[in-house]
This record gives sequence, structure tokens and C-alpha cells, in this order.
Amino acid sequence: MTAPYSGRCNCGAVSVTITAEPVATRQCWCRQCQKSAAGGPTNNAMFPTEEVELEGLRGDYVYVAASGNVLTQEFCLECGTPVLGRSSARPQFRTIRLGLLDEGHGLSPAMAIWTEEAPPWAVIDPALENWPQQPPPPNVSQQ
Ligand SMILES: [Zn+2]
Ligand SMILES: [Zn+2]
Repeated sequence: MTAPYSGRCNCGAVSVTITAEPVATRQCWCRQCQKSAAGGPTNNAMFPTEEVELEGLRGDYVYVAASGNVLTQEFCLECGTPVLGRSSARPQFRTIRLGLLDEGHGLSPAMAIWTEEAPPWAVIDPALENWPQQPPPPNVSQQ
């Protein structure tokens, strides 16, 4: 059985294979995401951690969010492509940056979050579920 999703960074040093469908897809406009996404939002798909297999060296940036949770952003050490985010509050998920995935993955954000931090010029699709701050965690069974 072939994995539903695969991907690589710009230089190819980091690659990913994902063996499940996402539990959520989101666009995040928080300030930290704007920094790593060149001023726009990050576009993400959350997968169960055990379904995500990564190869290649990544750097990580760790910070404490307003929620008190410790967030980590991983990126390729060679080319800087954003790879994923993870939260101390939800270690069971990895938030994969959609840009990492190979062309034709077919995923798109269903929800825009932290929209109160979006810049004035941001155009946010009104069809998306809109959360000014952090939404509740995905509604999936968790162990
Ligand atoms: Zn790279
Ligand atoms: Zn964010």
C-alpha cells in the first residue's frame, strides 16, 4: 500500500512520508507563523505523530506560546524550508507545513486560526471556519 502523502524540502535534505489522512487542516495567522512564512500564514495539516516518518536533519525553534504551551517549529537546516510544528500540549500530533508536501497532495485549509493577528492586507477566505485565536483541538479519539 502506498502512503497517502510524501514530501521534501526545497533542497531535498529533509523528506517525509505520511501514512494517514489528516485529522485537521488549518491556516495559521499567528505572529510566529508570519515570521516563518514570509509575512503570510502557515498552511498546515495535522497528522497523528506515529503516522509521520521524517528523514534528514532539522533545526528547531522552541518558544512558549501565550497559552503557556511549549511550541516547536522545525525547519530544514540547509534550505530553511518550514517542515512542521508541534505542541507540548498535543504530542500525539505533528502539524506538517503544506509546502513540504509533494505537488498534487490535494489538501487545503478548512479553518483559519489566529486571524486577529493577521495583517490588515490579509485576504482570508470567508468560506473557511474562522477563529480569532486558538481553536479547540481536533475532534478525534485520543489515547
Ligand atoms: Zn532543505
Ligand atoms: Zn501559528
